[in-house]
Parts: sequence; C-alpha cells; structure tokens
Amino acid sequence: MVLLKSTALKNKTKDEITYLRPVSNCTGCGDTKVSWSVHEGMRRFNRKLGLKGNDKYELIYAADRGCGNLQGYHAYGIVDVIFCMGSGAIVGDGIKEACSEKQIVVTASGDGAYNFNISGIKFAAKNKKFGAINVIYNNYNIRMTGGQIPLETDFDKEGPALGFDIIHINPFRVDDNAELFKDLYDRYLKKEKVMVIADGVCVLDMGKDAKNSGVKMGRMIRSEECLDLKFAKERERVAMEEPEKLKDLPRFKCRLCGIGLRCHALLKNDPRQCQACGSCLQFPCPANALSFEGVSFSTSVSISELIDK
Ligand code: SF4
Ligand code: SF4
Repeated sequence: MVLLKSTALKNKTKDEITYLRPVSNCTGCGDTKVSWSVHEGMRRFNRKLGLKGNDKYELIYAADRGCGNLQGYHAYGIVDVIFCMGSGAIVGDGIKEACSEKQIVVTASGDGAYNFNISGIKFAAKNKKFGAINVIYNNYNIRMTGGQIPLETDFDKEGPALGFDIIHINPFRVDDNAELFKDLYDRYLKKEKVMVIADGVCVLDMGKDAKNSGVKMGRMIRSEECLDLKFAKERERVAMEEPEKLKDLPRFKCRLCGIGLRCHALLKNDPRQCQACGSCLQFPCPANALSFEGVSFSTSVSISELIDK
C-alpha cells in the first residue's frame, strides 16, 4: 500500500513537471506576432468606441492545435479554446451561438489544417446571424506532425468561393495588423466574413532560405532607455550597496515586448538570438527603446524581394 502510494505521488510529480514546463515558440515565430495583433486590435477597438469595464467587447479566440496557439493557451492565456487540428472553426461556430453580443469570436488554424477545417469554415460563411474572422497561419507546411507539405490551397480563389473576403498580411508588421483587426471587429459586427492569411509565419524556415541565398539579416537593438535595462542596473546597485533591500524589489520593471511578442531574444535581452522577424520595429515600447538594424522579414517574407534590398 505504501509502495502504491509513493508510486502515485512520483507519477503525479512527473506529470506536474511535464505540465509546468513552459511551452515555448521559436524566437521570432510569426504566429505569436499575429495573436498579439488580434488582442491589441481588440484593445484599440474598445478604445475607439470609448468603452470601459463591462461595456467593453471581449475577444474569444478559438484555435486549432498548432505552434503559436499551443503557447498562447497554456502559458499566456492568449487562446481561449483549443482542441485538435480541424477543430478551431467549428468550435468557434458553436461558441457564437452561446456567447453574448458583446463577445467577438476569432477562429484560427495553420495552412496545413485549413483543409481539416473546411466544414466549420463553410458553416461560418453561411451563418447569417454572425460575422466571421478566420485567421490562417501560413507556414507552408505541417510543423506539428513533422513538416509534411499540406494540400496546395489557393486562398484567393477558395476564400471568395466560400463567401470570405481574403486579406493577406505580413505577420511581423504588428502595429499595422493591430489596426487591421481593430477595423475587422467592426466588420464582424456587420456580419461580414473575412479570412486573414498570415503568410510566412515560420521565421526559422525563412531564415535558412535567406542564409542560403546570401541575404544577411539584421538584429534588434534595445537602447539604454529600456525601462527593464535601467531597472536591472538599479537592482545590481542595490545588490552591491543595500543587499537587505533586494528581496523587496520586483525582478523586472517592464517585459511588455518580450511577453507581448513572446520572444526569447527580448526576454533574455540577447540580440544574438534575434531571428530578424522585425516585429520590434512596430512594437509600441513605452520608452521608445526598441529598434532594428538591417534587413528584416517585416519588410517582406519573400526571399527574392529581400535579395533586392
Ligand atoms: S528580437 Fe524582435 S525582431 Fe528579433 S526575433 Fe524577437 S521580436 Fe523579432
Ligand atoms: S517594451 Fe520597451 S521598455 Fe519595456 S522591456 Fe521592451 S524595450 Fe524595454
């Protein structure tokens, strides 16, 4: 009996360790940049309408299981609902029937699982009661199951045929995209159907292609005006001169960019880890301390276009 109990405890501890391991996207992952813009767009939408407290519109983000959405659900609470590949659109359709008129449902999947989602997407297009915003994270393969090449999809032909307007975005232009989503929430309330295709979200694949094509990508720069860098210096001073006060100091002053863009290069303040996605260029840093030097994917996700830069 004692043995059984201790084995159960051991297993439980292992499970908890597995669950608590921070789920993490690759540095520069475009999925995470788009989800920032989806949320920021909702903040701006509420601000534009002057809504506060309980009067504000609320975002419900229903996603497939995929690179960016996994981290969003477990560690950052970005995604509200996540089941399996092929579930995002149809689960979102169901949520619309149950939610209040102050809730706006955005659905999302990768390009690989787009075809698993077709029935949910069709329902969304045909449903006259609600608008639809469906995001496709387009990395041109199925990363979660080993990098298979998905069925070829011509979104510009299929989207309109299904009843959607198609908008292609560069996932790394985070401010432009937040403005876009702000406007899309208006269109959703007018019951319009829009599909947003975020092309080139896998910065690792594009980085390899850029390197093989001889394109030298740039790096983010954080100036000394960064609130967190200044605070780190202050912590060092306190540690040296008044160590008894150290325990009362928070560990960080500002991690807006690192957490918002979910980027390890920013969280660790290590430009060597920067994958040159270029999102830093448009991130609204309160101290205006973020910039980027050189070529980035926020200029273009097409390697041939970057070669010409
Ligand atoms: S540091 Fe900025 S530009 Fe570099 S990968 Fe992270 S978010 Fe992208
Ligand atoms: S948002 Fe600006 S101030 Fe805050 S950590 Fe990032 S660079 Fe520093």
